[in-house]
Amino acid sequence: MHAYDFRCKNCQTEFTLHYKSFKAYDEATPQCSNCQSADLARVINRINVASPSRDYSKMDSNDMLGVFESGDSREVGKMFDQIGGTSPELGAQYHEITQRLLKGENMDKVEKSLQQRENDPKSNPVAKPKTDP
Ligand SMILES: [Zn+2]
Repeated sequence: MHAYDFRCKNCQTEFTLHYKSFKAYDEATPQCSNCQSADLARVINRINVASPSRDYSKMDSNDMLGVFESGDSREVGKMFDQIGGTSPELGAQYHEITQRLLKGENMDKVEKSLQQRENDPKSNPVAKPKTDP
């Protein structure tokens, strides 16, 4: 089975289609799973996503590093979301990062804007959790 990732240019839905062979893919007319539009863009993932519903909570640190190194913001966002999405103690910043990544914002950009905020305490009104014992 070959998995092909697409993004619908009409409704921006991302989805994966599976074909038995390259020939089957070649002969098929892929359609959006959401709106049935055929106006699609191929999404090339550098990481090999074994299943569309990847369980990041079961990943080891090497796998996670691989996701980070892929530079795929949405994939990292999904990982963040699955690992800490239901943990309110991780704080608003964590959830902000997750949401920004899920929107496809550039990872470097998100990181830089957070660093700038850390360097300037006046622009960071959210109280930081105590790290000292
Ligand atoms: Zn669509």
